[in-house]
Amino acid sequence: MLSALPTALPQVLGDADFLAFTLKHPHFYPATSFVLQNGTKCDIWDTGVICFTPVSYGNNDIVLSSGVHGNETAPIEICAELVKDILLQKLQLSERVLFLFGNPPAMNAGVREIKDNMNRFFSGAHQIDAAVLAEAPSEQQAEAAGLSFEKLRCARLEQYVSRFYQAVPEGRNRALYDLHTAIRGSKFEKFAVYPYLHGKPWSEQQLTLWASCGVNTFLLMQTPATTFSYYGAQQHNAHAFTLELGKARPFGQNDHSRFADVALLLRNLISGVQISSKTFAEQDFHLFEVYRAINKKTEAFELCFAADIENFTQFAPGTVLARDEGIEYVVEQPGEALIFPNAKVAIGQRAMLMVKPISVAGRTA
Ligand SMILES: [Zn+2]
Repeated sequence: MLSALPTALPQVLGDADFLAFTLKHPHFYPATSFVLQNGTKCDIWDTGVICFTPVSYGNNDIVLSSGVHGNETAPIEICAELVKDILLQKLQLSERVLFLFGNPPAMNAGVREIKDNMNRFFSGAHQIDAAVLAEAPSEQQAEAAGLSFEKLRCARLEQYVSRFYQAVPEGRNRALYDLHTAIRGSKFEKFAVYPYLHGKPWSEQQLTLWASCGVNTFLLMQTPATTFSYYGAQQHNAHAFTLELGKARPFGQNDHSRFADVALLLRNLISGVQISSKTFAEQDFHLFEVYRAINKKTEAFELCFAADIENFTQFAPGTVLARDEGIEYVVEQPGEALIFPNAKVAIGQRAMLMVKPISVAGRTA
């Protein structure tokens, strides 16, 4: 295997395993650049952050993010495979691509997060200003200042995404696909959260692109959020999604046949292979909007259904969903379904979302 390596691949990358490299240096890695024999420029900007620029590239600037939640391993493994194939020159890129492994310390620990849920601290919610970040505080300094790794990482990832998009002239197609798996099973195995677009039309091209690999259920958000995908859409005008691709399992325990279509789509997207997708028709999709968010108000909060309930499960009106101190939450409307229930969130945070079907007629483009 080693003899096949281009001479330009630096020693630190060993057998082109960028995931192993990332897990070995989980907190930070100084910027390192090299060029493959096929001319592809490789810039490691930090641990888990690698930017590829092929000699000639098309009009798409694509960010592929995984591991923002450390224990959601299938997308991490998919991206690690793509990075390895690029480094070994088995995969010739046709577009600029930025790969991000979000939370390496949590990936090492096999947990969703060490201290903070990263998807609650984008769009500046980390409250770390550029001056502090410019000083590149060490983990110890950050900790002394009360900053978790996750908040620091959110601020840094924002900088890397900005650097990636702004390194080329404006007006190109930007995408930011933040790949996840969910804590629980789902009535619809694969689904995507489409961040709030502030009234702009939803993209038929993007909806049908993802439907071509089995993601035809979309949750269309109606309010700003602190997620990575909302940050990409709002701050950089990228086509951005939080993609939930199946159930979270530990490294090495994923059934990759269940992710094969998605992995192939990503491979085709970045290597210029024509992707055939159908013309947009609303009936080909399951489209939902958030009807209400239920927040945990006290430690007494409890969910009133089986722990292994699937996302998008529907209940009859009147069914009790959850109890909090002095409050009972019941289903108010036919068709209401629940998503992302989690009683273990911090006080004041979202414990679940209730969603209902929506039509997008006349609001797509
Ligand atoms: Zn996640």
